[in-house]
Amino acid sequence: MSSKTNADCCADGHDGPALKLSDALSRILAEVQPVAGREMLAVRSALGRVLSTDVVSRINVPSHTNSAMDGYALIGAELSADGETSLSVIGTAAAGRPFGGKVDSGQCVRIMTGAPMPAGADTVVMQENVVREGDAAFIGAGQEPGQHVRQAGEDIAAGNVALSAGTRLMPAEIGILGSLGVSEVSVRRRPRVAFFSTGDELRSVGEPLGEGQIYDSNRYTIFGMLTRLGVEVLDMGVIRDDRDAVEQAFAKAAAEADAIVTSGGVSVGDADYVAETLQRTGTVGFWKVAMKPGRPLAFGRIADALFFGLPGNPNSVMVTFYQLAQPALQALAGMPNPEPPLTMPAISASALRKKPGRREFQRGVFSRADDGRLIVHKTGHQGSGVLSSMAAANCFIVLPEDSGPVSEGDEVTVQPFAAFV
Ligand code: AMP
Ligand code: MG
Repeated sequence: MSSKTNADCCADGHDGPALKLSDALSRILAEVQPVAGREMLAVRSALGRVLSTDVVSRINVPSHTNSAMDGYALIGAELSADGETSLSVIGTAAAGRPFGGKVDSGQCVRIMTGAPMPAGADTVVMQENVVREGDAAFIGAGQEPGQHVRQAGEDIAAGNVALSAGTRLMPAEIGILGSLGVSEVSVRRRPRVAFFSTGDELRSVGEPLGEGQIYDSNRYTIFGMLTRLGVEVLDMGVIRDDRDAVEQAFAKAAAEADAIVTSGGVSVGDADYVAETLQRTGTVGFWKVAMKPGRPLAFGRIADALFFGLPGNPNSVMVTFYQLAQPALQALAGMPNPEPPLTMPAISASALRKKPGRREFQRGVFSRADDGRLIVHKTGHQGSGVLSSMAAANCFIVLPEDSGPVSEGDEVTVQPFAAFV
């Protein structure tokens, strides 16, 4: 860890100054090296994976200059500016079936979309603008020389980088690989992420609930978020609030994974061993971030593995994962500069409680009002343990550090959940 030693962190203790979220994220990203391993995969199997090298095109896309319309291919210089042009139709070109001859003065070729431009022709006039009588074609004024032609290589020129290293291969990208005639690509190995929950009160699905016990939901939300990110997951179950158990789990996770995500046990309660164990067996990056929900939270490293000790409350887990762990895991997967999630201005249809100091992520539902503006309502009870407010939401309402309460009608910033994967 760059700037903080264990001694620093302990001097700060849990009550030390909290980092701004943006600073916390920069500090995390500065710690992340992408996983080194690579593998060759067939293009379809590489969907969702991250390119490890640039893909340079060996061909022009499109490979030949072709028509963008159904119409007539002709010589642009012959179009009469103010009157009618009459040409004789000497043949037909269709997609995959080029016209073999050459267009000379006074001639044109019937052409379909995608057909190679015949030699000599440089312009296409849409069929709607042509009157055809036998082999004669009559074209009115108002056409532009050069129009409706797609140039060879105008999408991707041979020799150029079509997709750069670090690109995540989504449907458009694998389509591009297809258009290049590429059958296999080199991608990074998927990062392996171990996760576990901590807490004596937690039971797993299938076990009976005793007095004071609850079912573990964080391992489900974390599983979901990790899986949607495309990393390999290692579910280590529930770990008891016990110093040795936590320490053993850390050691096992660090030996098997590139990153570790835990929930619970990072506050200062008597049974909170996560932060203490990180401090004892690993390196602490920071303890506290000025965000809500999400304090406390521990970031650091155990051996070579990145460590995210998320809070226990179900909403806090999701907020801190999306805001801090997800960009770090994207960088670990080989995406050099994970894009910040999309944000948009919206009018708050709810009054929102907020004290200056921390950056807050409230749960909201945004929609478009009749006047075209986006409006956002908060969803129900905003307590950090209330997961239903997250399920009912489609966005975070992001309230910056220095903002105070929001009145109905104020402009706020929303972050659609769709931006998170
Ligand atoms: P902690 O951070 O361990 O003090 O936990 C804070 C709150 O979150 C407590 O109410 C815990 O019971 C709850 N909690 C912790 N872990 C989980 C989990 N895996 N699933 C559901 N709730 C949890
Ligand atoms: Mg706990």
